[in-house]
Amino acid sequence: MPYYSQIDLHTHSNKSDGELPPAELVVKAANSGIKMLALTDHDTISGLHDAKKAAIKENINLISGVELSTQWDNKTIHILGLNIDTKNKLVIKACDELKTLREMRAKKISRALTKAGIKGSYEYVKKIAIDRSITRYHFAQFLVDHKYAKNQRDVFKKFLVKSKPGYVSMEWPKLNETINLINTAGGIAVIAHPLRYRMTATKLAKLINEFKKCGGSAIEVITSHNISKEVKLASSYAEKYNLAASIGSDFHTEGAFRNKLGLLPLLPKNLVPVWQLWERND
Ligand code: AMP
Ligand code: MN
Ligand code: MN
Ligand code: MN
Repeated sequence: MPYYSQIDLHTHSNKSDGELPPAELVVKAANSGIKMLALTDHDTISGLHDAKKAAIKENINLISGVELSTQWDNKTIHILGLNIDTKNKLVIKACDELKTLREMRAKKISRALTKAGIKGSYEYVKKIAIDRSITRYHFAQFLVDHKYAKNQRDVFKKFLVKSKPGYVSMEWPKLNETINLINTAGGIAVIAHPLRYRMTATKLAKLINEFKKCGGSAIEVITSHNISKEVKLASSYAEKYNLAASIGSDFHTEGAFRNKLGLLPLLPKNLVPVWQLWERND
């Protein structure tokens, strides 16, 4: 049974593909009883300044985070960097480069959709994303708003994924580079939503092994998959590979099929919670 956790370490604001501005997200979290919140926008740290300011006012502990897109074995893997130094020059540079990469990819996606007879997506996406991190979520919104699909879930069955209209291949930075970057910025690298990559158990084990070898130290155990079977499975990976455990809703917007802010089961007691890794260093 999910219930309100006081800790949520995976959330999105409108600096990437979430709905709320960072400060509003923080207020909402505080009103939901959250005491420790990480803002982890896709490939950008631009919301953290406003989030920090709001967190001081709301008296909640704001953890500086980012969800970085990486490439491993021809797959896109999301790695959270938690408790990073947002002034780190290499992080700032990496996010700038990722923004450019995402901009180029948006143009490519738009061209691919045009080829499939769907016009005008780039202009629309630029209008709703403004100068933020453009993700496939924004293209999904375009497709829903223009009645090409019923909802976001429907979009990701029919479009934007391998062998469907609007799919484009992508070269994100390598997994090891991303882990190094997070470690250099004093953060904790966390494998986000490990059960959402549609990998065999063998492949996932290989990913976790490499992640550890590269200096990664935690895995999301409680995330948008929170039925008990999945929590058990993710916990078993944390235990087996001696990784700290993280918890986060991956909140984007109210009313989405994913988790509500902070509405999560608690971390299993036998695991090392990820925040112990930075509290030890404080
Ligand atoms: P990108 O990082 O640009 O590839 O976009 C990924 C984003 O698209 C995710 O963070 C989600 O917000 C959204 N997304 C991906 N797959 C799905 C899905 N199956 N259903 C709903 N949203 C999805
Ligand atoms: Mn997203
Ligand atoms: Mn993700
Ligand atoms: Mn996310």
